[in-house]
Amino acid sequence: MFNLEKIIRANIKELKGYSSARDEFSGTAEVFLDANENPFGTLNRYPDPKQFKVKKRLSRLKNVKSEQIFIGNGSDEVIDLAFRIFCEPGKDKALTFSPTYGMYDVSAAINNVELIKQPLLADFQINLNQLQPYLEMDEVKLIFICSPNNPTGNCFNDESIEYILENFNGMVIIDEAYIDFSSRESFITQLNKYPNLIISQTFSKAWGLAGVRVGVAYANFEVIDLYNKVKPPYNISTLNQNAVLESLNNTTQFEINKNIIIKEKENLVKELKKIKLVLNIFPTEANFILVEVTNADTIYINLVEQKIITRNRNTLVDNCIRITVGSAEENTKLINALKQL
Ligand SMILES: *Cc1c(COP(=O)(O)O)cnc(C)c1O
Repeated sequence: MFNLEKIIRANIKELKGYSSARDEFSGTAEVFLDANENPFGTLNRYPDPKQFKVKKRLSRLKNVKSEQIFIGNGSDEVIDLAFRIFCEPGKDKALTFSPTYGMYDVSAAINNVELIKQPLLADFQINLNQLQPYLEMDEVKLIFICSPNNPTGNCFNDESIEYILENFNGMVIIDEAYIDFSSRESFITQLNKYPNLIISQTFSKAWGLAGVRVGVAYANFEVIDLYNKVKPPYNISTLNQNAVLESLNNTTQFEINKNIIIKEKENLVKELKKIKLVLNIFPTEANFILVEVTNADTIYINLVEQKIITRNRNTLVDNCIRITVGSAEENTKLINALKQL
C-alpha cells in the first residue's frame, strides 16, 4: 500500500517552511511595510508567492483544484524538488528508462541519488517484466516516466503506466512536457485515483514560453503541500507570472500555433521520407522527430556547417538525430540542406 508519510525524507517531514510576510496576511491592505521593499518603482514589490492568479486560471483549464498545482522555475525545479523531498542522498534510489530525457540523470547526480536506467524495448515501450523487481524495492522512491518520451517521441502504453502506478509504493512522476502535441489524454484526469502520481507539464514547448522558465506539477494536495514547503518563497517572478497569465488568456492563439506545428510535422515527415540518407522515421506524438540516418555524426556536422543545428542522439539511439519541428521556412531549409548531402 502506498503511504506518503512513509516515503518523505525525515528532515523534510520535520521542516517548517519559510513563512513570508505576505504568506501570513490575508484580505486586502493599502500600506505594505512588511517586506523591506522599496516604495519606488514598478517591479519594487515581491511577486505573489502562491501565484494565485496563475493557479486559478490553470485550475479552470485543467479541471483540478488550485491546491493540486505547484508552479516551478521550469520543469527542472519540479524534478529537482522531487529528489529533495523523497530521496535521502547517498541512500535512496530513483528509476527511469533509457533512452529518455537527460535532466533526470543530472538532477539525480546533483542530489547524490543513484538513478537506475531500465532499457526500453525495441519499440521504445516499457519492459514490465524486467521492471517488476525494482517496483518492490523500498529504497527506490521515484520513477520518472517521460510520455511522450524525449528523444523517441512515442507515448508509453496507458496500461504500463497504470500498472506502475498501482504496483509501486513510491512516487511516479509522469513528465508530460509534450502532451499538448499528442492525441492522448493527460494523466491529470487520474489524480483522484492515484495518491502517488505527480504530473509535470511546462510552458516551454506547446505554450511557446521557453524563455519564461515556468513548469507546473499537478498532484494531490498532500504532495503539493510538500512542494510548497521546500520551494524558495518567491520562486516565480512577477514578469514570469504575467507572461504566463497573458498566454493563458489567449488559448485561441495557443491552439492555432500548436495545430500549425502538428501540420508542419506531418509535412516534414513526408519530406524526410524522400531523403536517401534517412533510413527510418520513428512515430512521434511530440514536436520533434527521431530520425535514423546513415551516419548521424557526419550528417549532424554537415548540417552545423550549413548553420542548421539538430540534436545528435547517436550516443543514445544508434545513428539517430532528433529534429525539432520549426516554422515552414526553417523546415524547408533543413530539407534542402539534407538534399545536398
Ligand atoms: C523540454 C522538456 C522539458 C521542459 O523543461 P523546462 O525546464 O520546463 O523548460 C521537460 N521535460 C522534457 C522531457 C523535455 O523535453
